Amino acid sequence: MNQRAQALWAEAGEKIRQRIDPGSYKTWIEPLTVSSIGDSALTLKVPNKFFIDWLEKHYLSFINQAIAEAFQQPLSAVFVAPDDPAATAPRPERPQAAATVQLADDSTLRERYTFDKFVIGRNSEFAYAAAMAVAEAPGRTYNPLFIYGGVGLGKTHLTQAIGNHIRIRKPRTKVLYIPAENFLNELIHSIQNRKSLEFKNKYRSLDVLLIDDVQFLSEKTQSQEEIFHTFNALYESRKQIVLTSDRPPKDIAHLEERLVSRFQSGLVADIQAPDIETRIAILKKKAELDHLVVPGDVLYFIAESVKSNIRELEGCLTRVVGFASLVGRELSTDLAREVLRDIISTRQKTVTIDVIQRTVAGFFSVPEESLRSKKRTKELVHPRQIAMYLSRSLTTASLNDIGSRFGGKDHTTVIHAVAKIQNAVATNAEVDEQVKAITKLIQGG
Ligand code: ADP
Ligand code: MG
Repeated sequence: MNQRAQALWAEAGEKIRQRIDPGSYKTWIEPLTVSSIGDSALTLKVPNKFFIDWLEKHYLSFINQAIAEAFQQPLSAVFVAPDDPAATAPRPERPQAAATVQLADDSTLRERYTFDKFVIGRNSEFAYAAAMAVAEAPGRTYNPLFIYGGVGLGKTHLTQAIGNHIRIRKPRTKVLYIPAENFLNELIHSIQNRKSLEFKNKYRSLDVLLIDDVQFLSEKTQSQEEIFHTFNALYESRKQIVLTSDRPPKDIAHLEERLVSRFQSGLVADIQAPDIETRIAILKKKAELDHLVVPGDVLYFIAESVKSNIRELEGCLTRVVGFASLVGRELSTDLAREVLRDIISTRQKTVTIDVIQRTVAGFFSVPEESLRSKKRTKELVHPRQIAMYLSRSLTTASLNDIGSRFGGKDHTTVIHAVAKIQNAVATNAEVDEQVKAITKLIQGG
């Protein structure tokens, strides 16, 4: 088999892994292998026929997007099962699969992210109402609209819903959705290639700019200047700006004061974790949209198992239903418990700050109590920041709790540490490896 294709597929798989929930990845993506590669199609071998339907229905755009990125050419995935003669020879690709490639771009709006597919709960009604108001009258109500909330709670969905709503109502409106990270890359690229003017013109000609995950702007001080100007130019000509972040503007580390105050100058709306009723409603909606018939007690069981991330909640439903039809068993809470066993057990194994400190200290060979001391030597600062970061992501402790357990630091120090490591994980392979290895030690041990 073509080794290059295998290696690139592995790279694509890694991208998919980062975008879908771990359970679905393990069930649906990990078993795939490259069968052959043609000019416009990558043929992937699947374990059985059931996979073909399921992958095409649920993961085709993810897969095509990741393949296009890894192979750097617009390939579409074609799936073959073992008893299919095409498993060894490439078969002609399907036209509808090719079309997905264009849609699957980070910076485009996804059709499924609409207001009517968003389930409103007490946790999100304020953000929903604000988003709707903005979509109805862009540039004239709340500007900018700043939506913040934890991972997987619907920020991207709501933001794209604004874009989709406006595009359908007023097709001539120029709407751009862009993750902050891509925006930054574009900006830096334009400066390096002396294309700043083009960049400026592109952004200043927009009517609606939706920037997702602006916590990425933290610490990129040089770019903040240009962002501020772009932002002002749009704002002053009453163009609509919508921003999202995992935290409120004032908590974004190293964000210039003037940007913080700009971000706060319109409306700031938060999305909280959904309560049990909302989680069940979300699962019901998802089942309905996917034409799945799922007994109420199974929905309830899943809603009870996943509390703080809607992407994961949906992933669990997919996994349970997929498994049931894969093995031809009836959907029941017993089956759900069996399928979700590892997901539920890792979550229920409570990780404590003590365990994190012990593991991090062991990993870096520093005394455990030194992490709780006020010493600021170089050998201690990095492990301590990693330990704070992990305490934030693996436990439910508050920022103040965490601060007090690390030598009486206040919550801003914790936020700083978390942001610093978050950033390092994204940009520095060594730190990323460290965090992964330590997390594994903590969760496995
Ligand atoms: P975030 O951007 O906050 O990390 P997303 O917007 O990507 O989260 O949402 C994660 C997944 O959960 C998406 O598939 C989205 O459609 C779904 N989702 C989130 N909130 C809701 C909701 N209130 N109703 C229906 N689906 C939701
Ligand atoms: Mg998002």
